[in-house]
Amino acid sequence: MIDLRSDTLTLPTQEMRNVIAHAIVGDDCYGEDGSVIELEEYCKQLFCVEDALFVPTGTMANQLAIKSQVMEGNEVITETNYHINFYESSSIAMLSRAVLHTCRTEDGILRVEHVDELIHSKPRGPFYASPQLVSIENTINYYQGKIFPFKEIKQLYEFTREKNISLHMDGARLFHAHVAMNIPLSDYAKFVDSLSICFAKGLGAPFGSMLMGKKEMISKARIYRKQFGAGFHQIGMYAAAALHALKHHISHLCTDHLLTKKLAMMLSEIEGLSIDPDAVETNMIFFHVNNLHTNSWQFVDRCKKKGVLLFPWLSDTVRIVVSRNVTEKGIYEAANIIEAVCKELTRGVTYVS
Ligand SMILES: *Cc1c(COP(=O)(O)O)cnc(C)c1O
Repeated sequence: MIDLRSDTLTLPTQEMRNVIAHAIVGDDCYGEDGSVIELEEYCKQLFCVEDALFVPTGTMANQLAIKSQVMEGNEVITETNYHINFYESSSIAMLSRAVLHTCRTEDGILRVEHVDELIHSKPRGPFYASPQLVSIENTINYYQGKIFPFKEIKQLYEFTREKNISLHMDGARLFHAHVAMNIPLSDYAKFVDSLSICFAKGLGAPFGSMLMGKKEMISKARIYRKQFGAGFHQIGMYAAAALHALKHHISHLCTDHLLTKKLAMMLSEIEGLSIDPDAVETNMIFFHVNNLHTNSWQFVDRCKKKGVLLFPWLSDTVRIVVSRNVTEKGIYEAANIIEAVCKELTRGVTYVS
């Protein structure tokens, strides 16, 4: 099976398994896990941030960023389709008792003008909810792994500082933006108050995220992490795997991007598929199947029968994510299978489930 459903499906390499087997561990609740200390220190250097906190998931990193920067009843401003609203709205209600205030942008980029409009669309003042955090995403999952433009981040940072609002970046796939744009990770960290990254996506570690920012914010988050039930004991094996991924797997993302572009070009030649290869910026491709008189679930099912796994994103949209899971040979095979499925559909071959 060629698995193009998600980059969370990447598996640890043999080298990573060796690192895990030999990792130094201790009780992280006592601050004594050597591998966690090493990973957090490494991230502090790499991103040039004051402090870093190892957490189990990207969701928890985002939730801790909110919990430590937004008071109950106050507001988080974000784009409707960013992970923080799309998947995490119930977590925010439950854990932070904060409100989301969102807008749908035309191109997926939440800009100063949108935030300004959201701030002024309600009465503000001591009796009402006040906006305390703006949250952006880089790269943007819902918008096909689109890169958030660096200059827009800087402008947002200037604006939010002026308004005394914090800026958070959900950087689950920030490494993809980093290798595509050749912008240092520390430059990204410089223009936000808090930043989360994931080790368990394209980087290929089995577990973990890092929340980074100022000392004061991270010390609050460290307490909330324990209260939320994620105070780890011997978690160093996972920290060592994450460190190995940071040291050895970042550059591979360039290969993922090249293969994604190649696949997008091949798919754009297929009759019936609607896809814009120029809009492909990182490791994701979204294509539409509505011209083939089918829906994404049926399309994905047909592909699975022939040996390629894809993700039915919306009823007419299929998502492809390229990761370390797939080789160049796999990309050609996937293109052939998708083409064969499209041919069946245009020829009206009956679907047998
Ligand atoms: C995957 C992802 C997360 C966090 O996912 P977890 O499964 O909780 O680690 C957060 N934001 C974005 C944009 C993501 O793609």
